[in-house]
Amino acid sequence: MTAAWYYSSVRRAAPIVAFILLAVSSAAADTIVLKNGRRIVAANVVEEGDRVSCETSAGKLSIPKSIVARIERDNFGSSSGSGSAEPPVSAPQVEPVRGYNDVARLTVHDNLIDFAYISRLESDARSNSPVAIEKVAAAHHTAAQFLLSKGDINSAIDHYRQALSFAPDNMGLLLNLSVLYLRQSQFSNALDPLEHARRISPDSADVAKLMGWAYYGANKMDRAVEEWNRAERIQPDPEVEHALEKAQRDKAEEESYREGETAHFVLKYTGGATPDLARAILHVLEDDFRDLESQLDYTPPEPIGVILYTDQAFADITRAPSWAGAINDGRIRVPVQGLSSVTSDLAHVLKHELTHSFVGQKSHGRAPTWVQEGVAQWMEGRRSNSAAGAIVEMAGQGQAPRLEQLEGSWLGLPSGAAAIAYAYSLAAVESIIQAGGVSDISRLLDNIATAPSMESALRGTLHSDYADLDQQTIAYLRSEYVH
Ligand SMILES: [Zn+2]
Repeated sequence: MTAAWYYSSVRRAAPIVAFILLAVSSAAADTIVLKNGRRIVAANVVEEGDRVSCETSAGKLSIPKSIVARIERDNFGSSSGSGSAEPPVSAPQVEPVRGYNDVARLTVHDNLIDFAYISRLESDARSNSPVAIEKVAAAHHTAAQFLLSKGDINSAIDHYRQALSFAPDNMGLLLNLSVLYLRQSQFSNALDPLEHARRISPDSADVAKLMGWAYYGANKMDRAVEEWNRAERIQPDPEVEHALEKAQRDKAEEESYREGETAHFVLKYTGGATPDLARAILHVLEDDFRDLESQLDYTPPEPIGVILYTDQAFADITRAPSWAGAINDGRIRVPVQGLSSVTSDLAHVLKHELTHSFVGQKSHGRAPTWVQEGVAQWMEGRRSNSAAGAIVEMAGQGQAPRLEQLEGSWLGLPSGAAAIAYAYSLAAVESIIQAGGVSDISRLLDNIATAPSMESALRGTLHSDYADLDQQTIAYLRSEYVH
C-alpha cells in the first residue's frame, strides 16, 4: 500500500498513539467515489447491506450506499506486494513461431540455456533459410521465457532483440519484447517494436491493446483512449473495455486540469490548486528525484505522473482538522486541500510516494511490501525512535513480527498489526542501512528484480536470510533506541 496519511493534530499526541493512528490510515488505499464527485480514501472498505463502511484517519465511517457512485480498489500490494500499479491490461500470449518443440527442448535443458546450440542455429540462419530463421526465433523465445521465470527481465529482452536481428518482422517477437519494456515502465522503448508491429499488421488488436498500455503508462490519456478504442473496434475484449472506461474517466477528469512539466514529472492539477503551489511541488519533487537518484543509484526511464487534487469532501466527512495524504498507483495522487505552500507534512508525503515509484521501478515491481514501506518511510525521514520500545518489548515476549510474513498485502491486517508492520519494516530497513549503508538497499532492489525469491535476494545482497535479518533488526532497535 502506498498510502501515507499525515494527521497533524495526531502527530503531536503521544508518539506511539500517533504512530498507530498513522499506520491505520496508512493501510488505506481504496477510494470511495461519491455520486457528487467527492472522493474518500479509506482502508478496509466493506459493503454491508445498504451501507459502506471504512476506516479513515478520523475513525470508522459508515456511508449510505445510495450516495456512493463506485469504489475504486487500489490493488497495490495485493498479490505482488509491489510498489507499482497493476498493469492496465494483461499481456497477450503470442508465440513467435509454432511447432518447434524440439528446438525448445534443445535450447533449455537441465535448467540451463544451451548457448552453443543457439549459436549453431544462428550460423545456420545466416543462410537466410526461412526454417532456420524460425528456429532461431523459437530458441531465443524459449531462452527469454526461461530467464523470465528466473526473474531476469533484462537478459530476456536481450534474447528478443537478438532474435529480431534475424527475424525483424516477427510479430510474436515484437509483441513479447514490447511487453517486457512495458513491465519495466519503459513506455517509449515499448513503442518502437509496437510501431514496427503496426506497420506489419495494421489490424492487430493486440498491438492496439499494448499501445494503449504504453500511452496510459506515459500519461498520454488521449492516445491511450484512441488505441483502446481502436482495439475494441477490431476485437471487443472486456478487459480492454474496462481499461478504456478508466482511461476515459481519467481523461475527462483531467481535461479541466492545468499542466506543469519538468524534466522528470508531468503534473496535473485543478483550478483549486494555485499555479504557485504546483510550481513549488514540482520544485520539491525535482530535488527529491535527484536525491533518490543518487541514493538508490537508479533513474526511472519515463517522466512520473503527479496529480494534485483539491477535495473538500474528505475534510467534510472525516472532520479531520488538517490532513494531507496521497496514493501511488503508478501515478502519484496527492490531495492538497487547503494548502497554498509545501508544508513539511506535504514534503514528507511527496518524498514517501516518490520513493515508492523508484523502489517499484528499480525492483521491476517485485519489492515486497515491507521493503516498499520501509524504504519509503526511511527516505521521507522517519526513524524508529517512537516505536522501538514497543517492538523490543514484543520481541521479549516472543511476539515480534517476522519480515517474511510482511511480503504480501497488508490490507487484511487488523489496525494494530498494520501499525506494527509499518514500524517493523522501517526498523529492518534502518538496520540494513546502519550495517552497510544505503548502497545495500540499492543492491538489494537490483537483486529483488532478478532473484527467484526475496530470501535469495537477501542472501545475494546481505549474506543473511530472513531469520538473520529479524534478529539483526531487534538487536539494532535495542542498541540504538532502548536504554
Ligand atoms: Zn507507503
